[in-house]
Amino acid sequence: MSAGWSWASLADSNSENSQRYISKVASHLSTCPKTQDNGQVDKSPWPLEDTADDWLEFYSERAGIAEHCGKMSKAQAEKQAFESCISKWIDTHQPAIIPDVCASCGKHAGIVGQNAIITGSGHWLHNKCHSIWLVQRRQEAIKKLRSMGLTE
Ligand SMILES: [Zn+2]
Repeated sequence: MSAGWSWASLADSNSENSQRYISKVASHLSTCPKTQDNGQVDKSPWPLEDTADDWLEFYSERAGIAEHCGKMSKAQAEKQAFESCISKWIDTHQPAIIPDVCASCGKHAGIVGQNAIITGSGHWLHNKCHSIWLVQRRQEAIKKLRSMGLTE
């Protein structure tokens, strides 16, 4: 990760970003008695504002949890955190759903169950376009995340 983060600096409550991070996380803490009883804190993600700062915070949180709670090496934790960012970006940047139109090639999708599918997100895709679309979506996420300073 080349964006200059460290878990230690994130935990340093003197920085402006850390204060912002803490206040955001605190506002989304779980009230679930089960997680309170065992001391766990629900780190459910706050609404991302789609800024480089928010994505870096999301990444840093994931990396920190993976490294310190998951006992991963820093490199493994950062790799996993980047994968989390890719998934999150794809989930939060869904293209418009146009029924009966392939989300990948833009052509008439055809018959679902024969030559087309509807994904869990509701997008229509030709069977032959599905894997291509998944790769394109992943590449799109990586390109955007890199443009905001995140790297694998
Ligand atoms: Zn298609």
